[in-house]
Amino acid sequence: MPDYDAIVIGAGNGGLSAAAGLARRGIRTLLCERHNVPGGCATSFIRGRFEFEVALHQLSGLGTPDKPGPLRGLLQQIGVIDQIDFVEEDTLYRTGIPGVFDVTLKADRSEIVHALKEKFPSEKKAIENFIGLVWEFCHQLISIYYFRDQHASKDRYPLYFKYALKTGGQVLDEFFEDPCLKMAIASYWGYVGLPPSRISFSDLAMLLWAYTEFKPYHMKGGSQALSNAIVDSFLKAGGNVRFNCGVKKIIVSGGKAVGVITEYGDEIRARSVISNASTISTYTDLIDPETVSPAMLKKLASRTLGPSAVSVYCGLDCEPGDLGIEVSTRFISLNTDMDRQFALCRTFDSPEMCGLTCYDVADPEFSPAGACQVVLISLQYADHWYQIPPMQYADTKYRFAKGLLDIAELVHPGFKDSIEEVEVSTPLTHLRYLGHPGGSFYGFDQYAKDSNLFVSPLSPVQGLYSAGAWVGMGGFQPALESGAAAAKAVCRYLEE
Ligand SMILES: Cc1cc2nc3c(=O)[nH]c(=O)nc-3n(C[C@H](O)[C@H](O)[C@H](O)COP(=O)(O)OP(=O)(O)OC[C@H]3O[C@@H](n4cnc5c(N)ncnc54)[C@H](O)[C@@H]3O)c2cc1C
Repeated sequence: MPDYDAIVIGAGNGGLSAAAGLARRGIRTLLCERHNVPGGCATSFIRGRFEFEVALHQLSGLGTPDKPGPLRGLLQQIGVIDQIDFVEEDTLYRTGIPGVFDVTLKADRSEIVHALKEKFPSEKKAIENFIGLVWEFCHQLISIYYFRDQHASKDRYPLYFKYALKTGGQVLDEFFEDPCLKMAIASYWGYVGLPPSRISFSDLAMLLWAYTEFKPYHMKGGSQALSNAIVDSFLKAGGNVRFNCGVKKIIVSGGKAVGVITEYGDEIRARSVISNASTISTYTDLIDPETVSPAMLKKLASRTLGPSAVSVYCGLDCEPGDLGIEVSTRFISLNTDMDRQFALCRTFDSPEMCGLTCYDVADPEFSPAGACQVVLISLQYADHWYQIPPMQYADTKYRFAKGLLDIAELVHPGFKDSIEEVEVSTPLTHLRYLGHPGGSFYGFDQYAKDSNLFVSPLSPVQGLYSAGAWVGMGGFQPALESGAAAAKAVCRYLEE
């Protein structure tokens, strides 16, 4: 008899929700994580008196108890909803170009329309029409995909069929003239990792709609609190976890996944395996490539790695208000050319766009009294980081970080002088801690042509399933959802 019914490789969001989902259904499950703490991206680290949130800037899909989003139900199913204190943010973001425009969008449809109309009065009608389109389009998309309308057709869902395959940029151009207005609406593009000219309108619309309808959140204790709570729930349900336990190989026999070999050489047998490692590592490293079909390798080769980022984690010795930080999330651009900002993600040139998150605005207790935590972030691909000799790495990352600090200083004078602790992560940091190629934390680039609409997410190896950002989309909500879906698929497989 195999040692377990299921082994989950990796305790990122996807691996954790898969493991908890399995154990709570009575499936004998082992969770193996290479790192010494759970969470993958969903973790924290300590410098001085600050516990820094690694990843979560804004959680999507939670909703309120009265108007729950899909994530609330999922977290309830895996037994953690009451274990976490979620912090709701009332604002999507403040965005703008210093000296050119500055607008704050509340997480409320009519307030978004009001703020945009006030700032861009010459395009009032277009703003109303566009926001109306976004909401109606998302309702149609949800009916088709979430409620699985069997009678979906062009007549029933005309907006979906008209706009689903357009880029965000094409639709923005159809409605608007002012590039600042386009930028104000598209500022969430970094959350998918593609600028308006490349992101699908579906993704751009869903970001705006979902963060407004279900509100942006973070949580007390940061995302590490969520990761810890899921592990606790998993253990309580009878699951077994091993930290500091990387998996070196997935054992495939007769076309079926039947266990793993750990980095210590232990061979553990199971009836199924879920991998939260990247799809690339899973099929080119963990499984012997000769047992992987050429079709699967061809499918992998057709994809491109999504971005990673440089983050500058700052512990400041002042309150947010002392520096004029009034919203949790701010996007600061130096121009309206989002394609150029995206192109810079492949260079060491100073970034021209920076995300600034201050956790203490919505949760004044997030940092020690009288202090606050701000994270500056700029997307970066990894290729050029691979080229730097080790001796130049520290210098390169600090030079890049200085570019982000300069932007923060521009909009919040005194920022640099308030820094008490600072730490910088790069694509190589994420590569090291997650093990993902390119340090990509969104998985593959999120082009519409590669979405599950066109490409089957099914594994060619029986009993092997995937969970996490590499299966569908990046982000906490999609990764947690993919883990829940993998757990269900494993249950069906084990019953066959
Ligand atoms: C700086 C940053 C900012 C972000 N901001 C946001 C945000 O605001 N909102 C949002 O929704 N998302 C955000 N994200 C993205 C989000 O965090 C990720 O997309 C998501 O958490 C990925 O989850 P995952 O399940 O794919 O696992 P990952 O977090 O990628 O973790 C994979 C885990 O598998 C383990 N592993 C890999 N290989 C092995 C092996 N062979 N053996 C054992 N263990 C292994 C790794 O150690 C790791 O723990 C951000 C990410 C980062 C890094």
